[in-house]
Amino acid sequence: MLRAIAYGESHLIVTLLTPAGRVVALARGAKKPQSRLRASTQLLTRGLYSITQHSGMGTLGQAEVLETYRSLRESLELAAYAAYFCELAAAAAEDRPHGSVALYQQFSGTLHRLRAGQDIPQIVARVWETKVLRMVGASPNWQLCVRCGEPLSEVADYRSKAGGFLCAQCVVQADSNGRTPDFSLLVPTALAQVLTRFAETPWERLGEIRLKSENLNRLDQILRIQLTDYAGIVLRSRRFLDQLDELSKGVNTSAGEIDQRHDEAGSHQV
Ligand SMILES: [Zn+2]
Repeated sequence: MLRAIAYGESHLIVTLLTPAGRVVALARGAKKPQSRLRASTQLLTRGLYSITQHSGMGTLGQAEVLETYRSLRESLELAAYAAYFCELAAAAAEDRPHGSVALYQQFSGTLHRLRAGQDIPQIVARVWETKVLRMVGASPNWQLCVRCGEPLSEVADYRSKAGGFLCAQCVVQADSNGRTPDFSLLVPTALAQVLTRFAETPWERLGEIRLKSENLNRLDQILRIQLTDYAGIVLRSRRFLDQLDELSKGVNTSAGEIDQRHDEAGSHQV
């Protein structure tokens, strides 16, 4: 269950993510306290839903709840992140039957990871954003210069107009041609590799992820631009998260080097 919007006094219009894509259905009477659909139409609930569809919007008949993700609702911060993840999934998904099993599976993995609490929610969010960008085709090859395709040197220069990293040579060209200033962010190339791993490695094979808070902020800036400018995704729930993060700044930041241990894929530490 990704979304529920009130329809009249007692009905809900619900958006579900299925392995075959997004489904919108009318849940009659689901807002009533005694409704048998009440539990299954809560945000985040995973279940088996029976929908009758002739033409237009379907009607939700019965539903069996399989998982409620209750612990995610009990914390304001986790609930806010989960709501953002749902909104991101809803924006990225295609309507049934044109959806993707991968999106469904990666979304489930994201909720499980958030619930497991092994990473701070900000990291889970950056990984989910990176995966979504890749699935909607708005992700560059993070390890190559997006202009000339050459591998990046030690420092990569993210440029908003290019929608990715530029090598030193292409930066010189871009700056000599540029009439309007471009957003530029210099990052260690190791961070570009982290983005590739976030995008390509399934959740179950991503080991513990720890990032310096400055690198986490850099990823936030880059992914925000990619989502807005290249995937066309701007979400209301994100503004609420920003306010929450502002409040808890300095409390939740994680120190330490970029560190990806316990990685079943057996690769490197950066
Ligand atoms: Zn280049």
